[in-house]
Amino acid sequence: MNPIFLLTPSDRGPVLKIREQNLSSALLISLEITELTPLVGKEELVAKGQKIASDPQNKLPSVHSSVSGKVLDVKKDFILIEEEGERVAAPLTLDNSDSSSMLSYLREAGIDVSGLKQGCTLIINTVPAEAGIDGHRFLIEEFNQIMSEGLDFLKEALSPKASAIAVPQGMSWTLPGCTGHEIKPVYPNGLAPMVVKAVTGKEMPSGVSVIDAATLYRIGRTVHGKQPVTEIMVKVGNTLFQAPVGTTVKLLTSKAGFKLSDGDRVVLGGPLSGRAVYSLNHGIPADTQGVTVIAGSNTPVAKDSPCLGCGECVIKCPARLMPNMISRHAEFGLFENTQAYFIASCFECGLCAYWCTAQRPLLQYIRLAKKELFSKPILEDLRK
Ligand code: SF4
Ligand code: SF4
Repeated sequence: MNPIFLLTPSDRGPVLKIREQNLSSALLISLEITELTPLVGKEELVAKGQKIASDPQNKLPSVHSSVSGKVLDVKKDFILIEEEGERVAAPLTLDNSDSSSMLSYLREAGIDVSGLKQGCTLIINTVPAEAGIDGHRFLIEEFNQIMSEGLDFLKEALSPKASAIAVPQGMSWTLPGCTGHEIKPVYPNGLAPMVVKAVTGKEMPSGVSVIDAATLYRIGRTVHGKQPVTEIMVKVGNTLFQAPVGTTVKLLTSKAGFKLSDGDRVVLGGPLSGRAVYSLNHGIPADTQGVTVIAGSNTPVAKDSPCLGCGECVIKCPARLMPNMISRHAEFGLFENTQAYFIASCFECGLCAYWCTAQRPLLQYIRLAKKELFSKPILEDLRK
């Protein structure tokens, strides 16, 4: 089988702490995907853990500084901070008086809780999302206690009617009170909608919440330390780093031993569903679990060529959508028409683009249409 589809976790290996490896470049805290409002200005001094950007509508997770430092620049899509001093923000105030306060505590601490529902079936997903992005193995084996603390907090906040843990076939990882489900480790089986189907036997059922191992770890650490977690585990090549949010992909790829050349592509996430960065100075966001380098010689060339109508993308789509039709409308700016083809059900696995005979950028068209539709209140389901 093509190794790009294999989700078998590799040996854990050591973790390289990037802060002990001469972090000389400034941190670039990206706001690009979340579009939050900055709360700090140029030249301002910030403390480690201080909230520096938030969502005026209180729906998206807040962003915090990973270091004590000085703000060098603030733009619409990033905040640049240079390390300086040893200031630490005051601890978060934990209000666990009711479910909504507990979830808003997590959101304030920078954790996305938008998909968590009261009284749900709660699924902890430890299956790697994509080949090579398998830091979950380290977290679940090394920090089981912290993750259990996170799980206890979630259970109190959500009162789930059942809890399950999805693990790659052959792994015996457990968490207290969770029923185990083994998943065949082949892409896209580790993506949340596929895991939900495997565990519940149903496609997109209501009342199910999925949280991956990395997020559960962050919840456990937040609850335990009463500080936002600003250092994350990120796998780059064969190296697992513990790195502050905002560390540049340039530093990570060089520490991982990559020598990048013109034409190489650096992707946040995996090769099938990740997002290529346009600059090596891009800082890793809090939800990054891996960075993939695709050599220029292996980079597929996407073209705005016409759809041939071969149907290959329809056959390969695990959500049984028609990516050909969605992309044709998105290509010409007819974004609202894509709703007739259930664009909200696309979970962005990228398989349609991978198999497209004409090498059309199908995933990019889909993401463009979703971004355009996102701002319209009629598409609430796209926000989930
Ligand atoms: S990315 Fe393509 S293949 Fe994957 S779910 Fe969406 S439409 Fe289907
Ligand atoms: S695989 Fe590509 S060319 Fe074939 S139907 Fe889908 S979009 Fe069109």
